[in-house]
Amino acid sequence: MKEAGEGWPSGLKKTKAREGVLSVLEGADKPLSAMEIYAEIKKNGESAWLSTVYRILELFVKKGIVVKITVMSNEMALYELNRFQHKHYAVCLSCHKIILMDNCPMEKFIPKIEDKDFHVVGHNLEIYGYCGQCSGK
Ligand SMILES: [Zn+2]
Ligand SMILES: [Zn+2]
Repeated sequence: MKEAGEGWPSGLKKTKAREGVLSVLEGADKPLSAMEIYAEIKKNGESAWLSTVYRILELFVKKGIVVKITVMSNEMALYELNRFQHKHYAVCLSCHKIILMDNCPMEKFIPKIEDKDFHVVGHNLEIYGYCGQCSGK
Protein backbone atom coordinates (compact mmCIF):
# COMPACT_ATOMS: atom_id res chain seq x y z
CA MET A 1 0.00 0.00 0.00
CA LYS A 2 1.18 3.48 -0.81
CA GLU A 3 2.08 5.95 1.90
CA ALA A 4 -0.24 8.91 1.92
CA GLY A 5 2.11 10.88 4.18
CA GLU A 6 3.70 13.38 1.84
CA GLY A 7 0.67 14.54 -0.04
CA TRP A 8 -1.49 14.84 3.02
CA PRO A 9 -3.73 17.90 2.71
CA SER A 10 -2.97 20.64 5.19
CA GLY A 11 -5.54 21.50 7.81
CA LEU A 12 -6.92 18.00 7.86
CA LYS A 13 -6.53 15.65 10.76
CA LYS A 14 -4.94 12.40 9.77
CA THR A 15 -6.84 9.30 10.72
CA LYS A 16 -6.38 5.72 9.66
CA ALA A 17 -9.71 5.65 7.85
CA ARG A 18 -9.03 8.92 5.99
CA GLU A 19 -5.62 7.65 4.96
CA GLY A 20 -7.23 4.48 3.71
CA VAL A 21 -9.76 6.32 1.54
CA LEU A 22 -7.15 8.69 0.15
CA SER A 23 -4.79 5.86 -0.64
CA VAL A 24 -7.46 3.97 -2.57
CA LEU A 25 -8.30 7.09 -4.58
CA GLU A 26 -4.63 7.72 -5.30
CA GLY A 27 -4.26 4.26 -6.74
CA ALA A 28 -7.44 4.39 -8.82
CA ASP A 29 -7.34 4.99 -12.55
CA LYS A 30 -11.06 5.69 -12.82
CA PRO A 31 -13.74 7.28 -10.65
CA LEU A 32 -14.95 4.93 -7.93
CA SER A 33 -18.19 4.64 -6.06
CA ALA A 34 -18.21 4.71 -2.26
CA MET A 35 -18.98 0.99 -2.31
CA GLU A 36 -15.93 0.28 -4.47
CA ILE A 37 -13.71 2.40 -2.24
CA TYR A 38 -15.08 0.58 0.77
CA ALA A 39 -14.35 -2.79 -0.85
CA GLU A 40 -10.78 -1.71 -1.67
CA ILE A 41 -10.13 -0.65 1.92
CA LYS A 42 -11.33 -4.05 3.08
CA LYS A 43 -9.09 -5.71 0.54
CA ASN A 44 -6.13 -3.76 1.94
CA GLY A 45 -6.87 -5.41 5.25
CA GLU A 46 -8.18 -2.27 6.93
CA SER A 47 -11.41 -2.14 8.82
CA ALA A 48 -13.91 0.58 8.02
CA TRP A 49 -17.60 1.28 7.99
CA LEU A 50 -19.34 2.21 4.80
CA SER A 51 -20.94 5.15 6.59
CA THR A 52 -17.46 6.31 7.60
CA VAL A 53 -16.29 6.07 4.00
CA TYR A 54 -19.24 8.24 2.93
CA ARG A 55 -18.50 10.78 5.63
CA ILE A 56 -14.83 10.95 4.70
CA LEU A 57 -15.68 11.35 1.02
CA GLU A 58 -18.05 14.23 1.74
CA LEU A 59 -15.35 15.88 3.84
CA PHE A 60 -12.77 15.42 1.08
CA VAL A 61 -15.18 16.91 -1.45
CA LYS A 62 -15.75 19.92 0.78
CA LYS A 63 -11.99 20.38 1.14
CA GLY A 64 -11.48 20.14 -2.61
CA ILE A 65 -9.34 17.02 -2.33
CA VAL A 66 -11.82 14.82 -4.11
CA VAL A 67 -14.20 15.49 -6.96
CA LYS A 68 -17.66 14.02 -6.78
CA ILE A 69 -19.17 13.01 -10.07
CA THR A 70 -22.89 12.56 -9.97
CA VAL A 71 -24.60 10.84 -12.80
CA MET A 72 -28.27 10.22 -13.31
CA SER A 73 -29.42 12.63 -10.64
CA ASN A 74 -27.36 11.40 -7.75
CA GLU A 75 -28.50 7.84 -8.09
CA MET A 76 -24.89 6.87 -8.47
CA ALA A 77 -22.10 9.06 -7.18
CA LEU A 78 -18.50 8.47 -8.11
CA TYR A 79 -15.42 9.91 -6.51
CA GLU A 80 -11.96 10.60 -7.76
CA LEU A 81 -8.92 12.49 -6.60
CA ASN A 82 -8.96 16.14 -7.59
CA ARG A 83 -6.09 16.28 -10.05
CA PHE A 84 -7.14 19.76 -11.13
CA GLN A 85 -7.85 18.61 -14.62
CA HIS A 86 -11.00 19.69 -16.28
CA LYS A 87 -12.96 16.79 -17.61
CA HIS A 88 -16.38 15.38 -18.24
CA TYR A 89 -17.81 11.94 -18.28
CA ALA A 90 -20.59 10.35 -20.23
CA VAL A 91 -22.55 7.53 -18.66
CA CYS A 92 -24.20 4.58 -20.33
CA LEU A 93 -27.83 4.26 -19.29
CA SER A 94 -27.77 0.53 -19.75
CA CYS A 95 -24.56 -0.76 -18.17
CA HIS A 96 -23.66 2.40 -16.19
CA LYS A 97 -20.21 2.45 -17.71
CA ILE A 98 -18.46 5.81 -17.32
CA ILE A 99 -16.64 7.13 -20.34
CA LEU A 100 -14.19 10.00 -20.20
CA MET A 101 -14.85 12.72 -22.76
CA ASP A 102 -11.86 14.34 -24.36
CA ASN A 103 -13.44 17.72 -24.88
CA CYS A 104 -15.52 20.19 -22.94
CA PRO A 105 -18.73 21.27 -24.64
CA MET A 106 -19.06 24.14 -22.18
CA GLU A 107 -15.77 25.85 -23.03
CA LYS A 108 -17.40 28.66 -24.99
CA PHE A 109 -20.06 29.21 -22.39
CA ILE A 110 -17.78 30.53 -19.68
CA PRO A 111 -16.61 33.87 -21.20
CA LYS A 112 -20.15 34.71 -22.18
CA ILE A 113 -21.57 34.75 -18.70
CA GLU A 114 -18.48 36.47 -17.29
CA ASP A 115 -19.74 39.61 -19.07
CA LYS A 116 -22.84 39.59 -16.92
CA ASP A 117 -20.95 40.27 -13.72
CA PHE A 118 -20.87 36.65 -12.73
CA HIS A 119 -17.68 34.90 -11.81
CA VAL A 120 -17.70 31.31 -12.99
CA VAL A 121 -15.45 28.88 -11.17
CA GLY A 122 -16.68 25.66 -12.68
CA HIS A 123 -19.54 23.72 -14.09
CA ASN A 124 -21.19 20.39 -14.06
CA LEU A 125 -22.53 18.52 -16.98
CA GLU A 126 -24.34 15.26 -17.35
CA ILE A 127 -24.11 13.38 -20.58
CA TYR A 128 -25.84 10.08 -20.97
CA GLY A 129 -26.66 7.62 -23.69
CA TYR A 130 -25.65 4.13 -24.68
CA CYS A 131 -22.14 2.81 -25.06
CA GLY A 132 -21.04 0.87 -28.12
CA GLN A 133 -21.73 -2.48 -26.50
CA CYS A 134 -25.21 -1.57 -25.32
CA SER A 135 -26.45 0.28 -28.41
CA GLY A 136 -25.70 -2.78 -30.54
CA LYS A 137 -28.14 -4.94 -28.60
ZN1 LIG B 1 -23.34 0.31 -21.90
ZN1 LIG C 1 -16.30 21.49 -19.00
